[in-house]
Amino acid sequence: MNILLVNPPNCGRSVPEEQYGMDSIRQIFRGEPLALEALAGNLTDHAVRILDLKVTPDGLDDALAQFQPDLVGITGMTCEANAIVRIAGQVKAQRNALVVVGGIHASNDPDFFNVPAIDYVVVGLGKASFRDLIGQILATGNGGGIPGVAGTDPGKRLQITPRVYDATDLVPERPPAYDLVAANRHQYRLETLGLSMGFAITAFGCPHRCNFCCIEALTDGRYLPYPVEAVVRDIRLLGDVPVIRFVDANTFQDVARAQALCRGIAEAGIQKQFFADVRADMVVRHPDVMREWKQVGLRAVIVGFEEIDQLRLTEMGKGCRADDYRRAIDILHELGIAIVGDFIISPDYSEHDFAALRRYIRETAIELPILSVLTPLPGTPLYRTMADRIVIHDLDFYTLTNAVVRTRLPEKDFYGLYAELTKAFHRKPAV
Ligand code: SF4
Repeated sequence: MNILLVNPPNCGRSVPEEQYGMDSIRQIFRGEPLALEALAGNLTDHAVRILDLKVTPDGLDDALAQFQPDLVGITGMTCEANAIVRIAGQVKAQRNALVVVGGIHASNDPDFFNVPAIDYVVVGLGKASFRDLIGQILATGNGGGIPGVAGTDPGKRLQITPRVYDATDLVPERPPAYDLVAANRHQYRLETLGLSMGFAITAFGCPHRCNFCCIEALTDGRYLPYPVEAVVRDIRLLGDVPVIRFVDANTFQDVARAQALCRGIAEAGIQKQFFADVRADMVVRHPDVMREWKQVGLRAVIVGFEEIDQLRLTEMGKGCRADDYRRAIDILHELGIAIVGDFIISPDYSEHDFAALRRYIRETAIELPILSVLTPLPGTPLYRTMADRIVIHDLDFYTLTNAVVRTRLPEKDFYGLYAELTKAFHRKPAV
């Protein structure tokens, strides 16, 4: 079968830009489409191509005409959901190909994709189920009944047989098909830092239950680590890329396994720099593990602080204590590990809240704060509690930089303070 896997273009709309002419808030990410590379790696007996529309935004027509796919798979985040439906429509207009959608939004709100241009929706980890789907379609002409996959039926609710995700869904013996994006590799950069980086994954899922987070749906809340040898193999396959970004949700969740991975990297003689996500409470409890990782090249960690106010942090279900944050920051700075700090600005923020966050970031000298707006993503617990407050339903605005519920401050003032905060800390990141 000819299978075309499509990464949607950079998309999303911006209230501060469209309404108030503030363009400093927009964030553009251009990382490699690792989810598609992983799918492709498990389809070795098919002809597979990856079309990254973030790199070639106008490439769809040519890819359809030249490659003539029998099946097109599309992935994407919530802010890309409308684009996915548009791409599916373009595919159907040009070819009699099957269209399959998966990814974060499909996992959290699968019914959104129950539309005529889409044939199947893959919920959660798809590396194994997508392959099963293709095999069954080839054998029987129908992909119905596979756990974690739903055939669409517009106008009705999707019928999805639940899938119990486990280690077999990782298919660790099949590495991502990094070679399929080789021509784009020079484009996969973190522009803010001027760094080329390759993506690898060491584990899927997270056992925590932060109410705003969309990760749970990928594995039904299970934490599924890859074997150390598979991670080492994947890092090697990335060749001479100097920086590896582990794109797990929570790389250090299992401390013994994080240490085993660190030692596996050291024993393999790999000399690279690493970026990884870590929780502040783990840093405070296990500074020794961070020290070991620093020695094998951990350059920076992404820490989801989310909030500095304990009450809001508790409401989020983060399970961290704001009091621990300064200790975690001190430990990381003493070790020489830079911090990319994720903070979530509530639409309920007052001027005082903005000022307090600004002071906090300045005092703690967090190298690169990333500031997003609390967004009730469909399918998350937060969505269920905030649903009646939502005033913007168009998913193009769910970029995590728009307030989709009414702000407590006048909207223009809210975005003005948000833009000021963003500008204040993004001049010279020292990560
Ligand atoms: S710890 Fe991170 S990945 Fe896990 S649920 Fe919370 S925000 Fe999501």
